[in-house]
Amino acid sequence: MTFKLIKILFGVAAIAAIFQFYREIWPFWPVLLICISYILVVLILSTNVQFNFFVKAYNNNPAYPDNSVAFSFDDGPTENTLEILEVLDKYQTKAAFFCIGRNIEKHPEIFREIIKRGHIVGNHTYSHTRKMGFLRTKIIQKEIEQCNKIAENMGGVKMKLFRPPFGIINPKTKRALQKTGHRVIGWNIRPYDAVTKSPDKIILRITKNLKKGDLILLHDNKPKTTAILEQLLVILEQRNFGTVRPDKLFDIHAYN
Ligand SMILES: [Zn+2]
Repeated sequence: MTFKLIKILFGVAAIAAIFQFYREIWPFWPVLLICISYILVVLILSTNVQFNFFVKAYNNNPAYPDNSVAFSFDDGPTENTLEILEVLDKYQTKAAFFCIGRNIEKHPEIFREIIKRGHIVGNHTYSHTRKMGFLRTKIIQKEIEQCNKIAENMGGVKMKLFRPPFGIINPKTKRALQKTGHRVIGWNIRPYDAVTKSPDKIILRITKNLKKGDLILLHDNKPKTTAILEQLLVILEQRNFGTVRPDKLFDIHAYN
């Protein structure tokens, strides 16, 4: 259990203690509070892949021998991915792209280009639906299998790595993954680039506590990512950081 989670639990316990004083006013407060706390804890656990609560995910590897960090890009491939590939080539960096099946169907040539340039691709479900946290096991399994099938047809790869959309891993995702046999790749540096406007803020969130073995999450479908990536790679060079492809960071295989 992580320190952050322990703090949350302490917070809940403190609130519970305060509400104990009000028991005489309304005796059901503790029951209500326990229910709310339970929902909160489950929500926090299932939306934070790095807690490793339901499934063990590969999030970072501080024991990696070199002073390197790894890049991963979600939600592509899109037209924008081509620019990202150019920047990665310029700085001789290999990354992981977690692709949405629907986008592979739209841009099969870009999907193949990612592989051709020496990056790895992983499964990010077929539709990347916002209802991810509410899907039944069978539907999640179908989402993963459909994405894999398209990747195999379009790019000739049998993807073995999975990144959950929105970082959501709940018991149903766990059961679906047991069926499909995918390994989960999380992250430990999440700059919220998909929802933050300021590139400076995004860069600062990534660089302020960057350590060797960290895995950075970015989105290749956002036009601003290209400039952010180039600035990051310059900063990494200045700080004597190298880069490593995520599968090599964890010493695992990307494909079956
Ligand atoms: Zn995503």
